[in-house]
Amino acid sequence: MFEKYKQLSGKVKILKSLKARLFVIILLAGVIPSVGMRYAILQSYEDRAVNVRIADVQNQFKILANHLIIYGYLLDTSSEVVNTELDQLSNLYDGRVLIIDQNFKVIKDTYGISEGRTVISEEVIRCFKGSASTNYDSKNGYIEITTPIVNTVVSTTSGIQAETESDTKESLAEGVILSSVSTSTIMATLDILNRRAMIVELIALVFIVAIALVLSNLLTAPFERVTQAINEVKAGFTDEEISVNDYVETEHIVDAFNQLLGRMKVLDDSRQEFVSNVSHELKTPLTSMKVLADSLMAQEEVPAELYKEFMTDIANEIERENKIISDLLSLVKMDKKAADINIVSMDINELLELILKRLRPIARTRNVEVIFESIRPVTAEVDEVKLTLALSNLVENAIKYNVPGGWVRVILDADHQFFTVEVSDSGIGIPQEELEHIYERFYRVDKSHSREIGGSGLGLAITRSAILMHRGSIRVISEEEQGTTFIVKIPLIHPV
Ligand code: ADP
Repeated sequence: MFEKYKQLSGKVKILKSLKARLFVIILLAGVIPSVGMRYAILQSYEDRAVNVRIADVQNQFKILANHLIIYGYLLDTSSEVVNTELDQLSNLYDGRVLIIDQNFKVIKDTYGISEGRTVISEEVIRCFKGSASTNYDSKNGYIEITTPIVNTVVSTTSGIQAETESDTKESLAEGVILSSVSTSTIMATLDILNRRAMIVELIALVFIVAIALVLSNLLTAPFERVTQAINEVKAGFTDEEISVNDYVETEHIVDAFNQLLGRMKVLDDSRQEFVSNVSHELKTPLTSMKVLADSLMAQEEVPAELYKEFMTDIANEIERENKIISDLLSLVKMDKKAADINIVSMDINELLELILKRLRPIARTRNVEVIFESIRPVTAEVDEVKLTLALSNLVENAIKYNVPGGWVRVILDADHQFFTVEVSDSGIGIPQEELEHIYERFYRVDKSHSREIGGSGLGLAITRSAILMHRGSIRVISEEEQGTTFIVKIPLIHPV
């Protein structure tokens, strides 16, 4: 059963192969015309040979018919001259000749079998009316010919004179010559020709098979080169772009593959960079903790205050490590497919109130005022957890990168399609040349300052991912020493 299936799938595979198909097409393109040509040539030879034979026989029998009239053979079959001529003709054409008189009686049969019998056939009757007929039976290899015996000669005083043709046609036949002529010689020639043509055809077939093999291999070779080049890249021998320019089609395949390769390289590079960034970021708090712990252990008598101070620093580093890890987890979640998004219809005013309520204590410690302005009530289809994270990060940054006594203003507005959340602050601002980088993972404008205030460098990356998941957009306007404004725009109805 399994073997059978294997054989079948092998056959199907061969049928699917371009090389096999090309081979068959070239083979058929060579064989069909050559076989067709053989048949056409043999057929036209047969037609021509049979026609020549018929014309020849008809001429001979016309002469014979004249002799039959002249010698009065229809009345008396004893004429030695005519009988000899009849024997000669039947020998010459390897056939049989019957002479039929007006009473449809056979008065002479060169085979001597049917003499005295009556023959009433359609051809004979038609022939009596003056129209000769021929019938070629290719299967049995003979031609049946009827020739009317017409008295085309009238006796005049000056001798024997032929009538005009129009007169001949009108005159009725006095008898009919019914003859069958063998075509065996034609068949023999045909047979020889056929055999020779077949030998030539067989030789041609060998050449055609060879040509089909070579051509099908040559034509499909570029595709094999593509596979080979891709396999080399896959096996890691090379990571260069591949090139097979033999056909436009292979060029398209190779271009598409090179683009894919390029994308994979970019992905790989960014993955490596991300991993090294993560390791670095996770190592930094650990290094600080180790330094703090080592210096405590190195001292014999550590005063309680110093102990407490170092332990507080260690606790802060642990918290930082914790923040980086939880931010990383959030980011990984954001990077997952959009199917993970959990969309519900929400009151955005309430959502913002809640975010600000949670962040106000932090703002108070930094002496920053948080103001919320809602232009209109907004209800939208959003993922509560992801949007909360995104907006919290923006407000938290506005508080963190602010100045003592500064302010943070959050404005909520909407039109019939989108709602916008504007988060502006009176903080330190971001230099113009840094603006395009702030959404990158682990990117910080001022590393030491950001670290000091507990930033992981992942906040804006998380925010941007979350907003893009909502099919929204985010843009930033900032001026150093003046403040920053982030504007988030999200569709009210989540597009599927
Ligand atoms: P972090 O965790 O360091 O805050 P983010 O991804 O949230 O990381 O922000 C990236 C960097 O962008 C920050 O380090 C900071 O330098 C800058 N930044 C973000 N928001 C503001 C803002 N409101 N004002 C000034 N600088 C900002």
